[in-house]
Amino acid sequence: MRIRSHETIAVRVNFEGVMPGTHIVLRLRTDEGLEGISYISRVNAQNAKPLQQLIAGMLESLGDQDPTNTEQVYAKLFRTDYGGYPVSGLELRAASAIEVACWDLKGKALNQPVYKLMGGFRDRLPISANWALTPGPRDKIAKHLEDVLGRSFKAVKCPVGMADLDTAIEHVKFVRRCVGPDVKIIVDGGFRWSVKEALHFARVMEEDDLYWIEDPVAFHDYESLKQVTDSIKQRVCAGEVFQHPHQFRRLIEERCSDNVMIDQDLGLTGFLHVGHMAGIYGRPVINHLAPEVLSHAIAAVPNGLIVGLVPWGQPLFTEAMRVEDGELVMPAGPGLGLTLDEDVLRGNAL
Ligand SMILES: [Mg+2]
Repeated sequence: MRIRSHETIAVRVNFEGVMPGTHIVLRLRTDEGLEGISYISRVNAQNAKPLQQLIAGMLESLGDQDPTNTEQVYAKLFRTDYGGYPVSGLELRAASAIEVACWDLKGKALNQPVYKLMGGFRDRLPISANWALTPGPRDKIAKHLEDVLGRSFKAVKCPVGMADLDTAIEHVKFVRRCVGPDVKIIVDGGFRWSVKEALHFARVMEEDDLYWIEDPVAFHDYESLKQVTDSIKQRVCAGEVFQHPHQFRRLIEERCSDNVMIDQDLGLTGFLHVGHMAGIYGRPVINHLAPEVLSHAIAAVPNGLIVGLVPWGQPLFTEAMRVEDGELVMPAGPGLGLTLDEDVLRGNAL
């Protein structure tokens, strides 16, 4: 199979009026008439054009590469094949968009869902509702929680790094009172705390049974991260801003966190590499953003813990991710199982 043409569309959409985002949608068309798709989320509008140009240039550099040989595609795009410097920044984001679309093509060519081709460990996964839970007016928080529990979610995430520590503590305790004892609560510190602040937060939250505390301290401060992980009762999660497998190696080998979060920037192949490395050390993995894509990697590996649903990209597709009884039901269709909403793309293109 050969890629014959491509199209990129910069689009701005808003999930249920609460979560606006700019995305680049990529479509790859092949000589066999198949179309592979992907998207890059969380794009600054001023980066849309450069990203589209990078995608075009990188596709050209792939030449006659068969897109279904995903390890070859990964090695070429991420430059892991000649031991040189790895791609980074916007180039990395462009590379991952192409690599993901190649996985979609591979699934469509073989008539299998991507998660089955990646390992197919299970068909359903726990999923958490990761939106609209920053500290704010309590009536709004309570209403949001009632809504997501009504949609059968059994896990929620509270990003509290922007708030001062006391506000963060009060907010999460309020969320616990609203949801009762049986819903999992994830707290994201957003890299904002010192070790002392993280330890204080963890101690006063002990009775509130948190599922994990994410990014309590600066992402590059492995020593502090390990100190927090070794000291507190709750599990610690880290890794979401890492762009290369070697950054995870230290995180995992030195046991700096209990859970490992992996971004789409590594591509699905890079996610698999890191996911298996984490599995060897008994570390579960979670997706960072792009749930429509990365849920396939979580479902593929035995140490996939839960899918975090950040729904920025949901308006791009004709069907919402299927959540039943707190679990994501993986799509049965070939590839990523996603269909772009043409009207949304046309109506919201930048
Ligand atoms: Mg996070």
